[in-house]
Amino acid sequence: MAEERRDPKVEAVVQRIEAAHLQATVAKLVSFGTRHTLSDTTSDTRGIGAARRWLAAEFASIGKRTKVFEDRFTAQPGPRIPAPVEIVNLGVTIPGTDAARAKQAIVMTGHYDSIPSDTMDPKTDAPGADDDASGTSMALELARAFAAESPAVTLYFVAVAGEEQGLVGSQHLAERLKAEGVEVLAMTSVDIAGNGEGQDGIRDTGSGRVFSEGVPAVESEAQQKLRNAVGGENDSPAREWARYLQRVGERYGDGLRLRVMLRRDRIARGSDHISFARAGFPAARLMESRENYRRQHQTPRVENGVEYGDDLAHFDAPYAARLCRALGAAIASLALSPAPPQQVVLAGAVSPDTRLRWTLAADPRIAGVILYRRDAGEVRWEHATWLGKVDKAVLPSLVPDNFFFAVATVDAAGNESLPQPPGELGR
Ligand SMILES: [Zn+2]
Repeated sequence: MAEERRDPKVEAVVQRIEAAHLQATVAKLVSFGTRHTLSDTTSDTRGIGAARRWLAAEFASIGKRTKVFEDRFTAQPGPRIPAPVEIVNLGVTIPGTDAARAKQAIVMTGHYDSIPSDTMDPKTDAPGADDDASGTSMALELARAFAAESPAVTLYFVAVAGEEQGLVGSQHLAERLKAEGVEVLAMTSVDIAGNGEGQDGIRDTGSGRVFSEGVPAVESEAQQKLRNAVGGENDSPAREWARYLQRVGERYGDGLRLRVMLRRDRIARGSDHISFARAGFPAARLMESRENYRRQHQTPRVENGVEYGDDLAHFDAPYAARLCRALGAAIASLALSPAPPQQVVLAGAVSPDTRLRWTLAADPRIAGVILYRRDAGEVRWEHATWLGKVDKAVLPSLVPDNFFFAVATVDAAGNESLPQPPGELGR
């Protein structure tokens, strides 16, 4: 395996993330009673209006290299929106410094809206501590942790609304970025990421789950043809980002284990990464390992001695901080990494040898290329081989049918681009 180095710059970002900050943000968001998308916007103490004004002030106070970002629009009536309602996605961007990659970005979101048992009830308490003050607190914490950094590509940390009403806020955000010509390299929705004890009573604060689509929601005919030809269902851009988040998150994560789930989301559930997938961007969802369904989408109450409700008391800030650090590490490493290999060609079909070639961008930070390989029956990359600064590789006596391959560029500090699987078959 190629050496897995830890870049002090990435470690510095990770070390700024504190459980106490997440705890304070979640407590404040819970204090607004409900953050239902259709709730009151005039009160300063209750409802989504108060929550978003508080969040806006927090994001605005970060300063340094951050720029305040707002995506405000009127959502038209739909299945879960009875009348036009203003939706505000808000956060910060941290501008990229590589002029050649000015339109590239990494996006992270948490949704700050919440619901009680009745999806359409904007008045009843809906504390939404885990779903999803947890993810929102991470958007704010990551914005602070990266505030003074100079990433190669632009970073977006955004608190979105309208998730519970049908991913309405993130859909607008994804379409807006697409219309602005932003190329999202990787998007992550952190949603339900602070409950350390499942409904089954099992505690697990040592692992997290990463969900991503295998077959892309948006695919050209040529991409579909190639996917069918090589069996690329497990190598979509979203899945490569999920593996990257797992690998780099674990590298910096002090024993945290991340599980790459071979599903777009939990069964019949969804989150804001799906909006980005539909816009054609690689997107994943990061969340806790064990859920308690009595604390999701439930009006706080006690029924037959059983407690329901997504309350502050069950938010596990140290666990959330571990997940946040893993994501922070992966975003930092990707944001510092050089331009990835392009035009990766796989040759060697019906042959005992594998041959790969690619082109390298004129990015002075490319120190070399890492070749990833895994057995065709595996999920994780099993081999990482340092190749130096080259544009091809011949692997004698490795039949391509039996493996998956991808190549990544890496800088001198060990920050790797997203691995690029072959996009073309050649001779
Ligand atoms: Zn949620």
